[in-house]
Amino acid sequence: MVSDSPRKTGLFRLLLLAFRPKGRARTSAEMIQFRSVLRFAGLFVLTIFVPSLLVAWLGIAGTQGGEKALRSEVVLESDGALESCYRQFESLFESFETTARTRILQHRSSLDAPLEISSFLLLSLTLDMTGRIIEPFDLPEETTSFERVFYLAGPYQKAHEAEREGRVEDAIALYRKAAQRAHGMTQRGASELQRARLMAVTGHQRESEDLYADIIAEYGQLREPNGFLIGDVARLRRAELQLLRSPEMGIPSLEDTVDQILARRWVVGRGGDPAIARHVLDLLEGRVPATSVVSRRNRVRDRSAALFHAERLIPELELIGAKGPLLKVASGQFSYTRGDEVIWATTWIGENLHAFALDTRAIADAVLEIAEEGSHPDGKIRILVTSPETPPSSSIISHRALMPWLTGWSFAAQPWDPEGLADSIRRKRAVRLMVIVTSVMLIAFGAFMLTRLVSREMELAAMKTSFAASVSHELRSPITQIRLKGESLLLGLAETEADRQKHYAAIVHESERLSRLVDNVLDFAAIERGTKQYNLRPADIAQTVSNTVEIMRSSIESRGLRLELDLPEDLPVVRHDPDAVAQVLINLLTNAAKYGASGRWIGVRVFEVEVGVEIQVADRGIGISPLDLPHIFERFYRSNDPRARKHKGTGIGLAIVRYIMDAHAGQALVASNPGRGTIFRLIFPFSPPTERAHGARS
Ligand code: ADP
Repeated sequence: MVSDSPRKTGLFRLLLLAFRPKGRARTSAEMIQFRSVLRFAGLFVLTIFVPSLLVAWLGIAGTQGGEKALRSEVVLESDGALESCYRQFESLFESFETTARTRILQHRSSLDAPLEISSFLLLSLTLDMTGRIIEPFDLPEETTSFERVFYLAGPYQKAHEAEREGRVEDAIALYRKAAQRAHGMTQRGASELQRARLMAVTGHQRESEDLYADIIAEYGQLREPNGFLIGDVARLRRAELQLLRSPEMGIPSLEDTVDQILARRWVVGRGGDPAIARHVLDLLEGRVPATSVVSRRNRVRDRSAALFHAERLIPELELIGAKGPLLKVASGQFSYTRGDEVIWATTWIGENLHAFALDTRAIADAVLEIAEEGSHPDGKIRILVTSPETPPSSSIISHRALMPWLTGWSFAAQPWDPEGLADSIRRKRAVRLMVIVTSVMLIAFGAFMLTRLVSREMELAAMKTSFAASVSHELRSPITQIRLKGESLLLGLAETEADRQKHYAAIVHESERLSRLVDNVLDFAAIERGTKQYNLRPADIAQTVSNTVEIMRSSIESRGLRLELDLPEDLPVVRHDPDAVAQVLINLLTNAAKYGASGRWIGVRVFEVEVGVEIQVADRGIGISPLDLPHIFERFYRSNDPRARKHKGTGIGLAIVRYIMDAHAGQALVASNPGRGTIFRLIFPFSPPTERAHGARS
């Protein structure tokens, strides 16, 4: 027998069964139920709880995985872009190193097409072990103060003044005097140059030309104080004079002059060589084929630029420590040192140190260009160039240092839209979490519904078992009574006629009870199968009620209860099945007699209402608790109240009442006051279904 309320869920029931008070043993039915609840709980955990946990876990892991994938996709893209930028940058230096090395080994002058070595190259120098520059320029020799005095005083100075005052003949004589008094070849050569110039001015071109020839022969390799080679000046002036006479003589001489200048090593800080070369080229312009002028002009320009940078950059040579640590570097290997405006690339080959000054600004421009090309506008990331001065940025994903060339500089990868990336990660996460939460909630809801369903089925199964037991129990008592009374009569134990009549009456009473019980069970079975049919027809409901009450009266009154019937005269006709309505009333009156015995009164009232006719069956018995009230019409439902449990019953009486009332399209209502009594109300409408009604399972 199930002693718990059928409303309690499976889980609650399980707890109740597992933790019952000490000293109360479990019945075998409870044990069976306990086991089946346990089995259900096990199945539930195995097939629903654990899988849903796994699904949630997988979902959350998937979300994290998705985020990681998105991030690593970006990281992968940025690594790829950084690598490719770095490779391009590196290749600039690799090609520089290779070309520079080859050209050094070929002993080709670095002044020859310097941009072939690198587009960043400003100057290349060759130094010896002691750090002295040996290529491609010479350093100027110091002019002594003694030398300077010669040019600032004495006949040389006087000649200068005479020329300024227009006394040209005097000036010529004075320059000759200066030449005679000179303390060395350079002073003499310089004085003679001036004399030759003035001779040409005074109309003695031929003499002047001859003097220039002598000067070239005797003093040609000397440099006068302004940095001009005396030979260059003499050749230029003589060629100018020759040009006046005949171009055929002057042009080869001019070409020869510029070629000699280009073939020689220039002196740092002395602009004489390029100045004369440019002047000669101006003279040649238009007199010789343009190509020969252009190629010479380019060479002069490149070399002048190198000379200009040499003047600025040679002081920086200190930086590269030519005499010290660089010796350790393996031959042909390049080292890089940052200067103010240049990066010095240095390498030892043989006995010499080769130093290349590379333009930092041009390199930076190239780096920026590479970064710009590496930032695909349709990709997720862009490449920036960072230097020690760049402020740090949190949105940078990864770096690639530009070592060893640009120490402190890096290519940095940054998402084009860092906010957008974070946003899309957030959005994806939210959607996934929503899906996970929804599915877990759906699973939980499904599990809850399943538990309810299973728990109901279990309750119903328990109720059915209890119903079978109750029916057998209820059958036994009338059968026993009938058998006892019949045996007494048979054995002649009832001696008086009155006794015999009592026995007959008891047999009839018990058979009626028996047949009511059997009717109920059979009707219930028919209703459950869906085969029960009611024959609704216009009939006198007052008649139906009074007949039934009279049938029940003796059995009720024999229990000491008063049965009151209140039946008006002029009740309307209501379509109903009199046998079925009688069964409804019998069930209600039987209940009233059982549960209302303490009140010793049962009232039956019939009256017309707006919609039809209402029958009320009231008692003053134990009443029904509000907890039981909503369930008493359910099949097999029996209250747990011990006062109700005291009476035998099957739990189908009121279920049949409800079925029959449904078949009449009527209503069965109940109101109860626990301890004070109960009132059942049956409302029959005027217009019930016309066809033969079926007992419908609710
Ligand atoms: P049973 O065979 O148990 O009487 P019923 O379906 O007729 O089955 O009734 C269901 C339950 O409703 C009963 O077990 C009882 O607890 C309660 N009940 C029915 N009628 C009354 C009443 N008149 N007074 C108090 N309780 C009642």
